[in-house]
Amino acid sequence: MKDRFYITTAIDYVNAKPHVGHAVEKIQADVLARWHRDVLKDDTYFLTGSDDNSLKNVQSAKKAGKPTEEFISENANSFQSLKELLNLSYDQFILTTEKRHFDGAQKFWSAFKKEDVYKKNYQGLYCVGCEEFKMEKDLIDGKKCPEHMTQCEVVDEENYFFKLSNYQKQLEKLIESDEIKVIPQHRKNEMLSFVKQGLEDFSISRSVKRAENWGVPVPGDEEQIMYVWVDALSNYITALDYFNEGELYKKYWLENENRVHVIGKGILRFHAIYWPAMLLSANVLVPTKILSHEYLTINGQKVSKTLGNIINPEEVVEKFGIDGARYVLLTSLPSLKDGDITWGRMTEKYNADLANGLGNLISRVIKLGEKLKTQPLKENPASVEVGKLLDEFQIDRALEYIWTFVREANKFIEDNKPWELAKNDEAKFGEVMEKLVQDLYLISELLVPFLPETAEKIKKALETKQIEPLFQRIK
Ligand SMILES: [Zn+2]
Repeated sequence: MKDRFYITTAIDYVNAKPHVGHAVEKIQADVLARWHRDVLKDDTYFLTGSDDNSLKNVQSAKKAGKPTEEFISENANSFQSLKELLNLSYDQFILTTEKRHFDGAQKFWSAFKKEDVYKKNYQGLYCVGCEEFKMEKDLIDGKKCPEHMTQCEVVDEENYFFKLSNYQKQLEKLIESDEIKVIPQHRKNEMLSFVKQGLEDFSISRSVKRAENWGVPVPGDEEQIMYVWVDALSNYITALDYFNEGELYKKYWLENENRVHVIGKGILRFHAIYWPAMLLSANVLVPTKILSHEYLTINGQKVSKTLGNIINPEEVVEKFGIDGARYVLLTSLPSLKDGDITWGRMTEKYNADLANGLGNLISRVIKLGEKLKTQPLKENPASVEVGKLLDEFQIDRALEYIWTFVREANKFIEDNKPWELAKNDEAKFGEVMEKLVQDLYLISELLVPFLPETAEKIKKALETKQIEPLFQRIK
């Protein structure tokens, strides 16, 4: 049987159109999906979607003066249009307003062990931006959320609570033993120390009034709406038809060893702690891997609507093309720390690595190659190394590694000057060209998950011995 691989991205709030920060996560997940599907030939399923049930959406719709549903559906459409824009290969886009999601989320809630859920009166400070209750000690300037710089709401109401403390030992063991493998390591350590501090129960519902009657109703209680994170997280299984325990659910959740979530560091706690605890309570398998990425900043600042420094994915594609955009965004986000983008640096990177680096290599090899012999690619250890880096969620380093071959091949051309060999040493010319053609095959093979169209064009160029310029210098 083929290995199976199920990969998901975070589902974004659709209170605005997507920016580069959203885009880069989807491209990262796409690279892993393509690697498993197209290179390893695993039976792969790739899910993304939108979080429609957030209160943030309702408030933003009000501000925009539009009915919530219309507003959400417009923004969800722009998230869906990323598929074509960035050549994403996902299999499904789930909207959490869909009936199958409501049904699945309610089934999930109803499956929680009775002793894990209780009702109590609660007072707390809530950040709608985070959709999270905050501890007073974590706030700044009085009651402001440090992530959103907005005042937290004082909430005083009766809600359902989830007894997270019941799962403390189990979660510690699952994370410690890598049964739920959290990558990178320092994020794993962070989660472990959070668990070891002692877990506090968390609220899993809100009043219909506070929820503005938006979201998934709590089964059997008309007064309460599910806390948005509870329903949002369950999208990873409701999309697979958890409600009917359908084919997709069996195939990719139950009978599959690779249940992988790609998410940003800001929501790691929800994925590594709350989500597995609820799954355990509902007697459902937990994810096997959680890949946490850092953030993109723009000119040194957090990407933010309020700061007005947003770069849209459309603009990046317009300037660099689809594969160019994928490349500059992927290489801008290091695996272990935040990455900063500016138009200047993206242009430099594009020119150096794509126009001058890869583009130049391809055109030199093809132009010299009236005598090219195309060679099938032999076993290559390079793809083993790329695979290792991708397993460790080091996409930037995988690309750096591939670019060592691009640079070496360009240097090999300069050192051997095949245009001179062509005139005075035909045998040597043949050898040099054979190696270069092999190098290009190797590079095209390695690029399949990252720059899928480029990989295809290189192979075609090697076969037809014709090339249109792939990347042109940009000012
Ligand atoms: Zn916040």
